[in-house]
Amino acid sequence: MNIILLGPPGAGKGTQARKLVEERGMVQLSTGDMLRAARTSGTQMGKVVADVMDRGELVTDEIVIGLIREQLTSGNAAGGYIFDGFPRTLAQADALGDLLAELGETLDCVIEMQVDDEALVTRITARSTCGACGEVYNDNTKPIPADGKCIKCGASDFQRRADDNEDSLRTRLMAYYKQTSPLVGYYYAKGDLKTVDGLASVDEVAASISAALK
Ligand code: AMP
Repeated sequence: MNIILLGPPGAGKGTQARKLVEERGMVQLSTGDMLRAARTSGTQMGKVVADVMDRGELVTDEIVIGLIREQLTSGNAAGGYIFDGFPRTLAQADALGDLLAELGETLDCVIEMQVDDEALVTRITARSTCGACGEVYNDNTKPIPADGKCIKCGASDFQRRADDNEDSLRTRLMAYYKQTSPLVGYYYAKGDLKTVDGLASVDEVAASISAALK
């Protein structure tokens, strides 16, 4: 089963994708993670996208479609793919449809995670992640443990994303409404769309997603 998690920054796509990976053996394809990895390893492409990402704008369709193409053509996900943060434009959505068709695969479901904008600002500006395993923390609802060790892997390397600040978030939200939200209508029209309340607890959202995937 191949699915898309669709929603604005901070909707909880990454957290839910990680749960699906653990519970269903699916493979998470996050273009944001791929781009951050390219920056960390200092590739030419990483250098090209750094400023755009820090401002909260979208990198070009060509780059992200190339990243997804590379993963889909080299990988082998028996449990299916979770597209997290991709597609973000109509051109990316069309390209994904073409790529899946080329590989004889289908897109089975698009889950829209709905969260109100004020909650996104609060969530994102309080967010940090474990640099070793990616576990997500929140200063208000799930603070970093007092002993300074990740609850999942025990590492002590917590990171805040450079673009998790209020200025960049406003730009990311604008990009979402201008370029990505038309995908809600696009996938609704295709009959693939299911909507869940992204403001519920992590486990409740996971349960709604499981129900949507049945
Ligand atoms: P994310 O981790 O999904 O919030 O993505 C972080 C940043 O990476 C975004 O604000 C964009 O600058 C860039 N990015 C990630 N995925 C895409 C995409 N599908 N299309 C364009 N830019 C992307």
